[in-house]
This record gives sequence, structure tokens and C-alpha cells, in this order.
Amino acid sequence: MQRKAECSCGALSLQCEGEPELVSLCHCRSCQRRTGAPYGIAVFFPAENVSVSGDYKSFERPSRSGFNVRFHFCPTCGATVFWEPLRKPGQIAVAYGAFADPDLPVPSQEVFTEHRHPWVSPL
Ligand SMILES: [Zn+2]
Ligand SMILES: [Zn+2]
Repeated sequence: MQRKAECSCGALSLQCEGEPELVSLCHCRSCQRRTGAPYGIAVFFPAENVSVSGDYKSFERPSRSGFNVRFHFCPTCGATVFWEPLRKPGQIAVAYGAFADPDLPVPSQEVFTEHRHPWVSPL
């Protein structure tokens, strides 16, 4: 199985091989601000199953785990396509929406539910 994720303008893209190890929905305020949506969804793959093409810029922020998360986004359109949680070395998180694929697995967990917007249904 090969899946392609890409930014809004298409200049930054990823090929992801095999099935994701985890699909995690996050309601935290940082994900809300990053996505412009009420939550973000991360699709985790082993780093060796992901190949990146195109330029990107990076932004790193702390997280509640005590480890930073390093986000990578397209310098032209600004869309975040993937990130690296430094708590999970060897894992790449890919933005769920960047696949634009209705056959992606549904999230298996949700976190930071204390920040879930009241109109969003629990998983
Ligand atoms: Zn772009
Ligand atoms: Zn989050």
C-alpha cells in the first residue's frame, strides 16, 4: 500500500508505504491553531516508510510530554504536511487531511479531550 500526502500547492509531498501504526486525533489548542480547524489528526508511520520530496521549513514547539515536536511545512503555501514528535524517535506523523483520502483508517484514539469543542462528537 502506497499513500501520497501533499501540501495545498503540491510542492511538498510524501510517499508513505504500508499501513499507519497509529491514527491519533488531538484536540489541543496548539493543533487547533496549527490547522485552523477544531482538532488535528496525526497519521503515524515508521520513518523508514516515508519519503519526502520538496522543500520545507520547520517549526519546533514544546509539548506536555516534556519533549518538543518539530513541524515541517511548505514554504510556499504554509501547509504543515508532517512532523516529528521527539518523544517517539523514528516515527513520522503525517497530517491526516494532507492525504485527502476517504479510505484512510479512522482515528483509534483522541487526546486532549478537555479542549474538545462542545459541538464535536467524541470518537
Ligand atoms: Zn505548498
Ligand atoms: Zn495537539
